[in-house]
Amino acid sequence: MIDHNTIERIQDAAQIEEVVSDFVTLRRRGVNMVGLCPFHDDRSPSFYVSPAKNICKCFSCGEGGSPIHFVMKHEQMSYYEALKYLARKYNIEIVEKELTNEEKQQQSDRESMLILNEYACNYFVKTLHSHPEGRSVGLTYFKERGIREDIIKKFQLGYSLEERGAFSVEAQKAGYNIDFLLKTGLSFGGEQNRPLMDRFRGRVIFPVHSISGKVVAFGGRILKKVENVGKYVNSPESDIYSKSKELYGIFFAKSAMVKQDKCFLVEGYTDVLSMHQAGIENVVASSGTALTHGQIRMIHRFTENITVLYDGDTAGINAALRGIDLLLEDGMNVKVVLLPEGEDPDSFARKQNAESFHRYISENETDFIRFKTDLLIEEVGDDPIKRSGMISNIVNSIAIIPDAITRSVYIQECSQSLKMPERVLIAEINKIRKRDWDKRKEQKNRVSVGTSVSPKAHK
Ligand SMILES: [Zn+2]
Repeated sequence: MIDHNTIERIQDAAQIEEVVSDFVTLRRRGVNMVGLCPFHDDRSPSFYVSPAKNICKCFSCGEGGSPIHFVMKHEQMSYYEALKYLARKYNIEIVEKELTNEEKQQQSDRESMLILNEYACNYFVKTLHSHPEGRSVGLTYFKERGIREDIIKKFQLGYSLEERGAFSVEAQKAGYNIDFLLKTGLSFGGEQNRPLMDRFRGRVIFPVHSISGKVVAFGGRILKKVENVGKYVNSPESDIYSKSKELYGIFFAKSAMVKQDKCFLVEGYTDVLSMHQAGIENVVASSGTALTHGQIRMIHRFTENITVLYDGDTAGINAALRGIDLLLEDGMNVKVVLLPEGEDPDSFARKQNAESFHRYISENETDFIRFKTDLLIEEVGDDPIKRSGMISNIVNSIAIIPDAITRSVYIQECSQSLKMPERVLIAEINKIRKRDWDKRKEQKNRVSVGTSVSPKAHK
C-alpha cells in the first residue's frame, strides 16, 4: 500500500509529455504535442498531449486521461502498479507496507506471472555468471561468439542448467506457485504430483522484454546436439505473452529509433546483439516470422522509416519480397539492404563498427519498390506472360501505399523502368484500389450488421 502523501507527490511530479513520450513520439503543435495514438490503429496523428493541463486525449478513439491513467491503460497495470511505475521514473521513494496473504491473493495472475518471470530472469543471469556449469557452458558459448560482457549484461542473457528440474525446484523453494510456473511455461509436467521439469534446461537464455522493459517471455538456444530437439524453444503464448505483438529488442531500441528516425529490422536474437555491439541500437528482430500489423504499429509510433536487412543469398532475396506489403500498407517508408553474400546481420555486424556499418547501409540501401522492380526485370527477361505477371505484382505493391504523392512518384519511375505508359499503370492501380475499397466497405458492413444483431441473439 502507498500512503496518501506519496500518491500526491507522484501526481505532482508526473509530467504527461514525459510519461507519454516513453512510448509515443510526440511533435510540437502549438501549445500541445501530437503523436500516433497507441490505443487504436492510427495512421495520422490524433493523440494530443497537453502539458499545460497535464492530460492526453485521442481525438479519434477517445482514449486518454492523466499520467496515471495513461500508464494503467498502456501498460495494462493496476492503479497501484502504475503509481509504483511513476515513482520509479521520478525517483520518489515509496515506503510499502508488507502485503497480507489476502492482498497477495488479490494481485492479478498477470502481475504474478511478470514477477515470476523477473525472478526467473535473475536466476538465469546468476546461473550464467556464478554457477560452474553456467560459466563453463553458457558463458563460454557467448564468449566464443564474441559477445561482449556489457551486451550480455544489458540484454540479461542467462543460462538454464542441464539438470531436469533445477530451476523449478529453486522457484518453488522461493515460494513461487506451481500454477504460475506452468502458466508462464517456465516449467511443464507435474501431473499426479510428479516433479516439474524445466522448459529451458541446458539452454542459453534470451529474455524477451516488452516495450516497457518487462520480461514477458524467454527464448532458449540449446548448445548440445540432441536429436529431435529444436535449436530454439520459446515461452508459449500466455496472458502476458503474445508472440505476434512483441518485437525482440524494442525496449532497447526505442530511444535510438526516435533519435535516428529509423528502425532496422533483422531476424534473430543474435543479429540484434551483434548490431548493438557494433553501436547500432535502433534495431529489432521479428524472430523469423512475418511482421504483424500490431508489430508494425509499435515501430510506427517511433519512426516511419524502416530498413530491412537480408542475407545476400537467394533465400534472403526471396524473403525480402515477402511480408513487405504489410509495411507499405501501414504507410512506412521501406528500404532494403542486401548484405554481402554469405553474411547475415550477425556475422556482418561483428566485422563492423558503427561508422563502417552506416557507410555500407547508405551505399547499399535501396527503396523497396525499386528493389523489387529491378529484381523482377532481371528474373523475367523477355517472356511476355511472365512480364505481365511481374507488372501486376509490382502494381499491387504500389496500390497499397496509402499516400497519393508517394504512389505517383513510384508510378513515374516504374513507367520508365518497365517501359509502360504511366496512364496504363494508373488505371490498373485505381482498379485495385477501388476493388480493395469495396472489399473493406463490405467487411465493415458485415461487422456492423454483426454487432447490431448479436445482442438480440443473446435474449
Ligand atoms: Zn486513439
